[in-house]
Amino acid sequence: MNRVAIIGGGVAGLSAAISLERRGVPSIIVEREEALGGLCGELGCKGVERCVRCDVCLARDMVAQARSSPLIERLGRAELRSVSGQPGDFRLAIRVGGQGHRLVRAAVIVCATGGEPFDAHLDKRLGYDELADVVTSLDLERQLSAEGRFLVPSTSAPPKKVAFILCVGSRDERFNTSYCSKACCKYSFKLAQGLRAIDPGCAITIFFMDWRLYDPRENVRAWASGDSGVRLVRSRPAEVLLGEDSRPEVRFASEKDAIVEVEAFDAVVLSVGLRPARSAAELARTLQVETDAHGFLRSPKGEPCASTRPGVFLAGTCRGPKEIVECVKDGAEAASKAIAFMGGVG
Ligand SMILES: Cc1cc2nc3c(=O)[nH]c(=O)nc-3n(C[C@H](O)[C@H](O)[C@H](O)COP(=O)(O)OP(=O)(O)OC[C@H]3O[C@@H](n4cnc5c(N)ncnc54)[C@H](O)[C@@H]3O)c2cc1C
Ligand code: SF4
Ligand code: SF4
Repeated sequence: MNRVAIIGGGVAGLSAAISLERRGVPSIIVEREEALGGLCGELGCKGVERCVRCDVCLARDMVAQARSSPLIERLGRAELRSVSGQPGDFRLAIRVGGQGHRLVRAAVIVCATGGEPFDAHLDKRLGYDELADVVTSLDLERQLSAEGRFLVPSTSAPPKKVAFILCVGSRDERFNTSYCSKACCKYSFKLAQGLRAIDPGCAITIFFMDWRLYDPRENVRAWASGDSGVRLVRSRPAEVLLGEDSRPEVRFASEKDAIVEVEAFDAVVLSVGLRPARSAAELARTLQVETDAHGFLRSPKGEPCASTRPGVFLAGTCRGPKEIVECVKDGAEAASKAIAFMGGVG
C-alpha cells in the first residue's frame, strides 16, 4: 500500500498528485465539487492585452494533466467523512454524491482543502451589503472573465472612476485575520491594469496599506507614476457611504496631513483576502490535526507541509494564505514528504 489520498483538488492538491505521479506513486484526489481546480476555477485570465502573469492558467494546465494520468484517480462530489486505521494504513470513509459511501485505503493523507475568500458582508462599514456599486474583487473578476468588461451595477455603464480598497478582511483584528493574505496586492494590481487596458480613460485610485509584490517585474509605483490616471493612496478607508449623487463615497484619512477626505467613485472594488474555510475546524477533528490561532490547519514551526499528526501532510491555503505559485510549491513539498514517510519509492 503506497497510495496517497489527497483531500481537495485545487492547485495545491493537483500539484501534489502530479509530483507523486512523476515519481510513480499512485494517488486519489477526493474533491467536494464536481470539477477540479478549486478557487482558481472561479478566477479568469487577467491579461486583457497581454499575459500579466497572474498564474491562473497554471490550474487549468494541471487539471488537464491530472485528468490524463492513469496514476491519479479522481473522485468528484466526494467528501471525507471519517478516518480510521493508522499512519501507513489509513481507511477513509468518503461520501460520494449520489452513490453512497466508499472506503479508500491510503498510506498517507495530503490535505489540500484550501481557504475561503473573506466574506465582504462581514465588514459592514464598507457598504457591500447596501450599496449596489460596491463589489468585491471576485465579483469584478467573474464579470471580466465572463463578459470581457466591467459595467457599473446600478447604471450598466462603463465606469470612469474606480477605487480599489486593499486588505479587506486581512490585517484586521476585528475578524481574527491579523495576517497578510499575500495574493490580494498582486491580483488587485492586475485587475486594475485590466480595467485600464479595457478603457484607458478610466481613472483608478488604489487605497493600500503596504505593497506585497515579490516579483521585481511588478512595479506598481512605476506603473502609477507613468500614468496620470492612476493614483496610489496609502490609507485604510474608514467607510463607504452612499453619496448625494447616488455614487459610493469613500471616507479616508489622507496620508500627508491625516485630514478626513471624502471622495465619490463610480464603483468601489473591495480586494478581499483569504481566511480559513468554514469547514476547517470539523476537518481538523476528522483528521485529528491541530489548527492555529486563526483557524488554519497548523504546520509545526520549521516543518512546512507537516501537520501535527504523522502521516498527514498539508498543502496550500488550508495552512495559511498563499499565491498560486506558492500553493504549487507546497503541493510538491507535501508529495516529497509523503514519499519520504512511506520509506521512499522503489
Ligand atoms: C479574488 C481572488 C483572486 C485571486 N487571484 C489570484 C491571482 O491572480 N494569482 C495568484 O497567485 N493567486 C490568486 N488568488 C489566490 C489563489 O486563488 C489561491 O492561492 C489558490 O486558489 C489556493 O489553492 P488551494 O489549492 O490551496 O485551495 P483551493 O483552490 O481553495 O482548493 C481547495 C479545494 O478543496 C476542496 N475541498 C475543500 N474541503 C473539502 C473536503 N472536506 N472534502 C473534499 N474536498 C474539499 C474545495 O472544493 C477546493 O476545490 C486569488 C484569490 C482570490 C480570493
Ligand atoms: S498567467 Fe494569467 S494573464 Fe497570463 S495567460 Fe495565464 S491566466 Fe492569462
Ligand atoms: S497582500 Fe496586500 S492587500 Fe492583501 S493583505 Fe497583504 S498587504 Fe493587504
